[in-house]
Amino acid sequence: MSEVTVLIEGYAREKNGTEVASSTSVLIKDSGLKILVDPGSNKKLLVKALERKGLQPNDIDIVFLSHYHLDHILNIRLFPDKDILDGNTISRNDQIIDFEGKIPNTTIEVIPTPGHASEHCSLAIKTEKGTVVVAGDVFWWADNETQKTDSKSLLEHKDPYEKDHAQLLASRKKLLKIADFIISGHGKMFKVEK
Ligand SMILES: [Zn+2]
Ligand SMILES: [Zn+2]
Repeated sequence: MSEVTVLIEGYAREKNGTEVASSTSVLIKDSGLKILVDPGSNKKLLVKALERKGLQPNDIDIVFLSHYHLDHILNIRLFPDKDILDGNTISRNDQIIDFEGKIPNTTIEVIPTPGHASEHCSLAIKTEKGTVVVAGDVFWWADNETQKTDSKSLLEHKDPYEKDHAQLLASRKKLLKIADFIISGHGKMFKVEK
């Protein structure tokens, strides 16, 4: 069984007329590897969150990116020598290595979930509590929004950054079907009502 920990709950708000945002960051322990999902853009917060777990950036084996928005990826600068993965490629220095289905050498399933961004992928992890899905921005809320998690509200929730509405809706439905718990890109983790 894998272990999933939310290191940082993502946020998105306005401060003095500027948008301020950093993504949820998640630590997965699976098959002896430590996988960090979406390192975010707040460097101090990430370093502190890792410290609280007794970890330094160098202890992370793999960094996985759900998609390429900078508020999710800027902190890859803390991991200059690590494998950086998106939904189907491993970037190792200048090498680009294809993979399919699962994060290599783990049981973590990669699920294409386009809509918010075309390259967007989510992760499904089997844990003792059930299937946890790290959903990136398939589900996310600004700090000033109420996080309603009944399925109707989840499917209808507006994403001001969506690239393709029909794809986003299909991705949301796909994740709600397989997940017991969903970790959102900005906002809280929630239980899926069945
Ligand atoms: Zn985001
Ligand atoms: Zn995004």
